[in-house]
Amino acid sequence: MESFKTLFLIVLCLLPLCLLPLGAKGGITKNKPTLIQPTLRPLPVQRPSLQTEDVLPQVQGVLHDPPIQDEIPPPEVPPPEPVPEPPAEEPDADALSPHFRLQEFRCNCGTCSGFTAYPDPQLVAVLEAIRMRCGSPVIITSGIRCSFENDAVGGVPNSYHLIGKAADIYCPGLTTEELLSRTDGLGILAIPYYHQGFIHIQIQ
Ligand SMILES: [Zn+2]
Repeated sequence: MESFKTLFLIVLCLLPLCLLPLGAKGGITKNKPTLIQPTLRPLPVQRPSLQTEDVLPQVQGVLHDPPIQDEIPPPEVPPPEPVPEPPAEEPDADALSPHFRLQEFRCNCGTCSGFTAYPDPQLVAVLEAIRMRCGSPVIITSGIRCSFENDAVGGVPNSYHLIGKAADIYCPGLTTEELLSRTDGLGILAIPYYHQGFIHIQIQ
């Protein structure tokens, strides 16, 4: 029995020696530093030898080119045209119609107030209609008359010029006969003065 115990101890002492080669081969490596260093390193990637000049344009292109997308380009809008400023004129308070102003009816005597009567709106409307038919300016040679002016030009005592219902007119570019024809159908009295080159119109 004693010899068997001694043999067991011997075997027990020799056991680690038997296991040592196994550990060196990797069998027992849990708590040991790895003795085998990796000898294979990853091969360097063989990249094409690009020059700096070859790389920079690509990088810049990526940085500056717009992204390729299915964007609809904005429509080309023409630049706005400068808007002309309206003339800095105040509204003509003297206007009686689109083409006639009160001052055009002023008495010609030069001594009266100029407006002993006021142009009848109906007369102004007739003048405007004649003006549109002519297509060019109609000039008033005599509109309002004071009694002094009416006597001076030989007007009849009850002239319609005295009350703002008559005017003597001509139209540059039209003969007296042509201007007279422009009064047809207006329901007014029109008297041509061929030698003087004007027509006298008056409303009823
Ligand atoms: Zn006058």
